[in-house]
Amino acid sequence: MDPVYKTDENSTADAAALLAPLPTPQLQEYFNKLITSRGCNEIEVKHNGTTGKGVYASSEFQENELILKDEILVGIQHSSNKMDCLVCSFCFRFVGSIEKQIGRKLYFKNLGLSGCCDGDSSSGSEEDEDNGNEEQCGGSSSSHHTLPKGVVSSLMSGELTLPLTDKFPLPSPLSCPGGCQEAFYCSESCAEADWESSHSLLCTGERSESISREALGDFIRHANDTNDIFVLAAKAIAFTILRYRKLKAAHVNKKAKQSEPNQSLLLEAWKPVSLGYKRRWWDCIALPDDVDPSDEGAFRMQIKNLAYTSLELLKSAIFDKECEALFSLEIYGNIIGMFELNNLDLVVASPVEDYFLYIDDLPDAEKEEAEEVTRPFLDALGDEYSDCCQGTAFFPLQSCMNHSCCPNAKAFKREEDRDGQAVIIALRRISKNEEVTISYIDEELPYKERQTLLADYGFSCKCSKCVEDSSSV
Ligand SMILES: [Zn+2]
Ligand SMILES: [Zn+2]
Ligand SMILES: [Zn+2]
Repeated sequence: MDPVYKTDENSTADAAALLAPLPTPQLQEYFNKLITSRGCNEIEVKHNGTTGKGVYASSEFQENELILKDEILVGIQHSSNKMDCLVCSFCFRFVGSIEKQIGRKLYFKNLGLSGCCDGDSSSGSEEDEDNGNEEQCGGSSSSHHTLPKGVVSSLMSGELTLPLTDKFPLPSPLSCPGGCQEAFYCSESCAEADWESSHSLLCTGERSESISREALGDFIRHANDTNDIFVLAAKAIAFTILRYRKLKAAHVNKKAKQSEPNQSLLLEAWKPVSLGYKRRWWDCIALPDDVDPSDEGAFRMQIKNLAYTSLELLKSAIFDKECEALFSLEIYGNIIGMFELNNLDLVVASPVEDYFLYIDDLPDAEKEEAEEVTRPFLDALGDEYSDCCQGTAFFPLQSCMNHSCCPNAKAFKREEDRDGQAVIIALRRISKNEEVTISYIDEELPYKERQTLLADYGFSCKCSKCVEDSSSV
């Protein structure tokens, strides 16, 4: 029943080297560079004995002041969300037009593929077009007003325009230069950056640099059917391989007399990802409510087997002998665990929501005129008109921020923040040398519930609010 995890036999030592904690001076240097590159020089990453890394203010912040804008290292839009929002595959900005966004959404809704399965973003059953979803959802969508197919397709094609959408211009989507028809971009620069970061290895198009496009397709289908976090883990691995190749090329160019061992270049390439991992996925994943505690061992083994299957598919697609250690189950488990254990939600608000709110806010006469056209579309969309782009991403600096139930900062999207970057704003005055904290959960919940949720992140909170609450329980 249990597969033999043969990959680990060869590369256990190499994998252990990748998982070893970095020496503090190296860490410090890495974070200092990162902070400079983000242009947020009023913070620093420091280590303390109890909570490990933390972010500290190196000068004073006022309430509502911007503390940090952190860029995504690797991120994905959830596969189930792809039918709700068309976004740039690199920066997650909405692309196309308001009409195209609405048309696409209604098209998938009419097919019964969108909007009916909310709640479980990781189940990828949308891919199975013949599994009877259409019937299940036909009932619920007919309670809204379904629009004729012709109207929906002319919205998508751009033949039909809605009033005042010129106030909400979106960049035209560029197709992937690799020819996959799956990735779209807001700009040439995003297409290029994604290609260089990971997509050249993970593209299923004809210019793909993977070893087998067929295997890659199998890997992606498996991830969509089980857990789309596997795609994010694959991005982290592809990112490291491509970084390794770049470092190696630069190294050769320098004509170094004695070539550096490949292992140390791999360690250097792996550094950005290495700072996020904590524990293996199958060890840290919370036991679902419907699994009996006595079956915990079997459940964790099943999760490990799932990761093993996914990894074998990925190896067939992008294996690189020089980076063999990255393909050990130990590393794969730690990368997936890192995405499960960190506070990594990616959210971008929808311009479609803004558009309908704008129409609703117009002066009476104009509003009436516009709504005559827009009303049927809003009715057809129902509550889903405001669906945002949702995904998971790793933000290297934000992920260093510790949790508090009485935080002094929060992740917040301002009017101008239209992409997947993480924006951290001060909630109150923060003095110099104070630690910057955010809340990973809804901090208004009662003490016990907070502690349960935080246990999923692998710690028990001892913030001032928790200390106070625990003494009164
Ligand atoms: Zn973009
Ligand atoms: Zn592509
Ligand atoms: Zn707390």
